[in-house]
Amino acid sequence: MKDVLIYDTTLRDGCQAEDISFTLEDKLRIAAKLEELGVDYIEGGYPGSNPRDADFFKQVKKLKLKNAKVASFGTTRKPGAKPSQDLNLKVLLSADTPVVTLVGKTWDLHVRDDLRISKKANLEVIADSIAYMKHHADEVIFDAEHFFDGFRCNPEFALECLQAAQDGGADWIVLCDTNGGRTPMDIRAALERVNQVITTPLGIHCHNDGELAVANSMAGVEMGVRQVQGTINGFGERCGNLNLCSMIANLELKMGKKCVKPGQLKKLREVSHFFYELANIQPNKHQPYVGDSAFAHKGGLHVSGVLKNRETYEHIDPDLVGNRQRVLVSDLAGTAHVEALDGFGIKKKDTLARQIVEKIKALEHQGYAFEAAEGSLDLLVRTRLCDCIGVAFRYRVIRREFWLEVGVLPAAPAPTTTP
Ligand SMILES: [Zn+2]
Repeated sequence: MKDVLIYDTTLRDGCQAEDISFTLEDKLRIAAKLEELGVDYIEGGYPGSNPRDADFFKQVKKLKLKNAKVASFGTTRKPGAKPSQDLNLKVLLSADTPVVTLVGKTWDLHVRDDLRISKKANLEVIADSIAYMKHHADEVIFDAEHFFDGFRCNPEFALECLQAAQDGGADWIVLCDTNGGRTPMDIRAALERVNQVITTPLGIHCHNDGELAVANSMAGVEMGVRQVQGTINGFGERCGNLNLCSMIANLELKMGKKCVKPGQLKKLREVSHFFYELANIQPNKHQPYVGDSAFAHKGGLHVSGVLKNRETYEHIDPDLVGNRQRVLVSDLAGTAHVEALDGFGIKKKDTLARQIVEKIKALEHQGYAFEAAEGSLDLLVRTRLCDCIGVAFRYRVIRREFWLEVGVLPAAPAPTTTP
């Protein structure tokens, strides 16, 4: 039993990001990858927005996803029309998905200035759109657009909108920070009130304009929300959406909330990189949990510490999310960095370790950089090892076992017995 369900909107909100566009083939590969990761809902977009999205809903059925449910996304009906006559709702139903997500207005400013209808008319729009869709789809999710901004300006009306969604029969009510400007304090205060009047299961959908989407969503979960909506790598309009890679890791490892299986948590880094590759975007090295630098150590003290005990400078075991520890060698390096180099077995107390560090520092002073040049570093260490072999040969200080080990002397032939 999961504590929190994951709703991915990379294929809809994620595609609203500047520079991001996926082909139909990409979208299907994304859906399959999200299923592997263990997400519960995959939002495919609005089937009426273009032929590619309409096609996606036909093709995704062939994937026969076992766990993730596919959702189509659209707005509540237009004011003045009956739900059964509303073109948007008809198109949504044509996608024939088990889940339909309807977004509606909950901020009185939008009702007045954008929809230009009365507050009462907005409540009817929400309630009867949801009721109509409930007759045709297994599950209806109501995304309460701008809920937290609406709650700040007119809490009573914002709550009435949620009540209308509940009366309409919504399976979930998802509270949105659409402009991404709210804080964890706002989220907690609003949820305290919502929890008093709404009994429908709640979700949260945060954007990242104040760089608080993860913190806000965590505050939501702390207040009892059981569904989080976001995108892989936080792809999304403006500054992006909730980054599900960070959120899934935080839910599992920091909040103790089950949302994926342990084997799936280990796929986080791979999934993150897969999405960057399909989007043709360079991965963010510094991305928490999944980036190349997330567990990379450069300072001498840090390297020395993690070699003795990883926990000295790492907040989690990188392996849990499929990442790995890295030691960066630069002119900040000490002998501990040399000990950390894979495959050489040099100890930090060895004279050779000190010599290699001195050589690196001298070369970096001349303008070389080894931090991103693992091959060059490997060659440098091997060259130093060969130099040492030469010196050892001249002074005959190395024992026979060493020459055997490095292959300079052939192994002695097996003793033969005379017949
Ligand atoms: Zn959004």
